[in-house]
Formats: sequence, C-alpha cells, structure tokens
Amino acid sequence: MELLSPRPGIGQIKPYRPARPPQDGGAAWVDLSLTVNPLGPGQKALHAYRHAAGQIHRYPDWAQDQLRRAIGQRYDINPHRITCAAGSDEMIHLVTQAFAGPGDEVLCHEHGYRGFMKAIRAAGATPVIAAERDLVVDVEAMIDRANAKTKICFLANPNNPTGTYIPTEAVQRLRAGLPPHTLLVLDSAYADYCRRDNYSDGTEVVENCDNVLMVRTFSKMHGLAGLRVGWAYGPAAVIEAINQARGPFNVSIAAQAAAAAAVLDTEHEEATYAHNSAWLPWLSHELEQVGVRVYPSVCNFILARIPTDPSLGVQAVLDHLARRGILVKPVHDYGLIDCLRITVGREEENRALVAALGEILS
Ligand code: PMP
Repeated sequence: MELLSPRPGIGQIKPYRPARPPQDGGAAWVDLSLTVNPLGPGQKALHAYRHAAGQIHRYPDWAQDQLRRAIGQRYDINPHRITCAAGSDEMIHLVTQAFAGPGDEVLCHEHGYRGFMKAIRAAGATPVIAAERDLVVDVEAMIDRANAKTKICFLANPNNPTGTYIPTEAVQRLRAGLPPHTLLVLDSAYADYCRRDNYSDGTEVVENCDNVLMVRTFSKMHGLAGLRVGWAYGPAAVIEAINQARGPFNVSIAAQAAAAAAVLDTEHEEATYAHNSAWLPWLSHELEQVGVRVYPSVCNFILARIPTDPSLGVQAVLDHLARRGILVKPVHDYGLIDCLRITVGREEENRALVAALGEILS
C-alpha cells in the first residue's frame, strides 16, 4: 500500500526560520534581523486598525474596494488592475500557482529573494537560477536562461538581501529579451526607499506591456508587517487570474482598513524615508570603521561582509551580538556565508549594534 506523501517539490522547500529572541525578555532585544520599519506604523493606520475592531465578526470585503481605491489614488493607477493579498509573499505564491506548475520553469536571479523559491517549489514548477555579477542582477544572464518552458521571471528590484538595484532601462531590456509567454514579476518591496533618477518601481513598465506584474508590500515603509498586506498591479487578464487563484477573504478587515489609511499617509512615509536616509549612511560608515565590508544599499538594510579571519566566523559574531541582546540575520542560505543582513534601526539600536560589533572586531 502506498504511503501518504506530499507531492514532488514540497520536500525540497527549505524551512524559513527567522532568528528569534529568547521567549524570556525578548521585548528588550534589539531586533535588526527583519526588514521592518523601526518607527512602527503611522498614527492614521493605527486609528483605522482600532476602528475596524468593531467589525471583526464580519467577513472582509472580498473585492477589497476601499483598499484598491486608496492604492490607486496614492499611485495614480487604475484600481481595477490591482489585487491584494496577505503580504506580498502570498501574492508571489498566488501568481506562481496561477501561471506555473509541474513541467514549467520559473526564472530567478542568484541572490534573489528566497520567497520566490518557496513559491516555485510549492507550485511544483522548476526553478532556474541566473548568475548575478558582483551581487547585482545580470539581465543578459537572465535572458540567456529563458526558453519555451519559462512561465515566470522573478526580479526583486531592489533585492533582498543584497540591497542592490538595477535601473529602469535594464528592466526594460530584460522585458524585451524575454519570450512573450513569460510573465515578468517585478517585486518592488523596497521601492519606497530607492529614490534614484534612474530607478522606478516598474509602474510604467506594467503600463506599456501585457506580460509584466508589479508586486508591492505594506510590510516595509508602511510599517504593517504584522498585518500581512501586499498588492499587485498588472494587466487585467493577469489580475483576473490571480483573483481566481486567491481565497475571497485573504486580507482581513483590520488589515484592509489599516493599509488603506497607511497608503495615503505620506507624512509617515516621509518621516520613515528621512529616518532611513539619515541612518543608512551613518550605519554604513560606522560598520566600515570597525572593519566590516558594506555593500552599497538602496534599501532599509545593509549587507555586511564580516572580515574573514578563520578564528572569527560569522557565528562567533552572532553569538557576541546575542550576548549584548542584539539580533541580526545570517544569510548563509543565500550562499553568502560570511555576511550578515543588518536592518536600519532606531538611533539607540544602531549605536548599540556598532558598539557591540566594535568590541568583537577590534
Ligand atoms: N519581497 C521581498 C524582496 C522581501 O524582502 C520580502 C520580505 N522579506 C517580501 C517580498 C515579503 O514581504 P511581505 O510578505 O511581508 O509583504
């Protein structure tokens, strides 16, 4: 008799286990391991969230009308071409399920966000990984790996954990080089932090093509990681396919209300941007002063390479930081064995991190 077993691919999914402070006294920890907003949510989102509490015996709006309208208003895009999910992670899963399955290939880049791999495996499709160049996406390498079986091409721009980005012109080159049957999914989770003249989140690429989808999140700039809200903007047919795959009540009442308020709260966005613009360069500079190699980041985190002294591995650094009550993220699962990803925190958190690193590296 055959035993119960999950379908092929599921067993190959690497479990995602974020670092966690010990259960006792965890609140006192400086947690720079996840790429969240150190300022927390804005007051407008909090107010809307609390106000929604009286409605939680109801099911949420399956059409996500208020939230889609608010996103459309904020970014000046058509709400009919938007759909929302429980975090951009769910959106990545939904679009993968809708467009790829067993026998199909899905293209990613070497140090691309690992959520893509999970979604590809869960859908039973085959991941194909294109090499990067110096931790930056190599568009030509991606185009080279595309073929008749390539259903989706994922591009995180900017990317986590490298913190690097490619300019809009390169995204357009990638799009033009992919076969027309391949859906280019632009994961723009960190777009709000990347205000560069040669960068855009991909809105106009979506507008000019029928095989490009942009995915965004409320977890970073908008400070709502715990509520789980993400959204996608794309061609009507792609949005319809995702809506067919998604559960009707996938984004809760409280999450829809808070996100609708957050996306229109440009004041909180500006405060967050200003905080990041001040502390990202400070942290980069201070880390270099204690001998850490810092990769240039356009995000709210830094990829830091720890000096390669064999007696001082990344684990020893992590252990020392833990003794000081500080958590950062090792990224060995990306093949970056001597690197740490450090999120920009509040002033006192950034200073505590630099002081603790200085103790062990000097
Ligand atoms: N894309 C990228 C590039 C990310 O870094 C993350 C968060 N780690 C996500 C998507 C998922 O974010 P969420 O599900 O919280 O929206």
